[in-house]
Amino acid sequence: MQLAIDPATQKRVDGIRALGASQIRPLGLEADRLGRPTPPDHPFFELLLKAGQGRTRWPGEDTPDPGVDDGPRAGSSRTVLLLAEEMSYWDRGVAVSFPGPGLGEPPLLSMGTLDQKRRFLGPFIEPDRPRWGSFAMTEPGAGSDVAAIATSARKDGGDWILNGAKSFAANASRADWIVVWATVDASLGREGHRAFVVERETPGLADFQVERKMGLKAYESTSFTLADCRVPGANLIGGEEHYAQRAGFKGAMRSFNATRPLVAIMAVGIGRAALDESLVFAREHDLLGDPRVRDRLERVRRRLRLARLLCWRAAWLADHGRPNILEASMAKATAPSVALEATLLGTDLLGEVGARGDHLLEKLFRDVKAMDIVEGTGQVQRIVMARQLVQLPRS
Ligand SMILES: Cc1cc2nc3c(=O)[nH]c(=O)nc-3n(C[C@H](O)[C@H](O)[C@H](O)COP(=O)(O)OP(=O)(O)OC[C@H]3O[C@@H](n4cnc5c(N)ncnc54)[C@H](O)[C@@H]3O)c2cc1C
Repeated sequence: MQLAIDPATQKRVDGIRALGASQIRPLGLEADRLGRPTPPDHPFFELLLKAGQGRTRWPGEDTPDPGVDDGPRAGSSRTVLLLAEEMSYWDRGVAVSFPGPGLGEPPLLSMGTLDQKRRFLGPFIEPDRPRWGSFAMTEPGAGSDVAAIATSARKDGGDWILNGAKSFAANASRADWIVVWATVDASLGREGHRAFVVERETPGLADFQVERKMGLKAYESTSFTLADCRVPGANLIGGEEHYAQRAGFKGAMRSFNATRPLVAIMAVGIGRAALDESLVFAREHDLLGDPRVRDRLERVRRRLRLARLLCWRAAWLADHGRPNILEASMAKATAPSVALEATLLGTDLLGEVGARGDHLLEKLFRDVKAMDIVEGTGQVQRIVMARQLVQLPRS
């Protein structure tokens, strides 16, 4: 596995660092104070477009797939992780608010037809304005147990009719389209799952409500309902033939295998920010002479580096077309708990300063908890890995 970072990627990371100090962190602090997401018409998003952000990883139909190589390249999973860690270092909530196809992109990349990539990812190649995509699996009655989703999909001529409710979908109310997971028959469990692209103006797509959250307030996590939403057959991701032999569920899992290391590396970014802030606070308050404090700081740095290597390994496997389900789960099970330890250390050091609620470390402490929850909780990852270790089938 190649660990070196090529100069072009390093330049992009340095660009994020500059933007992070001047824009990302202040915006995150502002959203936290105001308790609401950064609005979609904020000039920051236009600025990001000019800086080359908000693009799809899909190279377009005329660009040949560059294939795999051993180092990070534009669009590779590893490059995405490097940039995501740096963004999250400055503010993970703002990082998720960035325009782009978001979590809706992996299912389109892995399962979508050329026509679907052209229609839904094409506008993100050189976006004319800040555009968002979204991904909605979770429902009020189905979180970890994705097999329990109840949003129904019924065939009607060449169209599909969707009915149900989704919750916590990132950037959903500002998105051009949402990848919505639904079931053709709830008794089939995961085999009944289908993924649809539901476009913004589809009649029946309504009731957008931005959820209240303890942290990560700069981006919206939104619930919405689908009432007799008529979706054209051409928006069933991958087409009907894709869903033979559990391919629908496998498609969802492939999406998560791509996004779990991403969520994990974002936790590493938050943890690194907490470590840096803890060092600053400890130095300013003469705490570094205490070997117990030094020991905890060192342990956090060491564990953050280990977590980062797990994420990179999962990304490297993905970039080489190899299965990474175990490594993706390992990264996701490990990084958020390390980041939580980092923010806990920080708030321990702050003492009563932390209790006032206006120190960055206190905000990071509130931000980090969700990293254990999203994209499969740490508990669920451990269950999956333990079953895999003793060669039990997936439950
Ligand atoms: C900030 C945030 C952003 C999100 N963004 C999105 C998004 O963009 N799109 C989307 O679709 N969803 C999103 N989600 C939803 C997220 O994926 C779910 O919250 C997650 O899957 C957990 O589901 P749940 O909250 O219903 O918890 P539950 O599944 O009810 O779990 C509750 C607790 O029980 C534990 N548990 C569950 N099953 C088992 C078991 N079998 N054995 C032992 N313990 C178990 C869990 O680990 C957890 O601790 C987001 C959530 C948050 C908090």
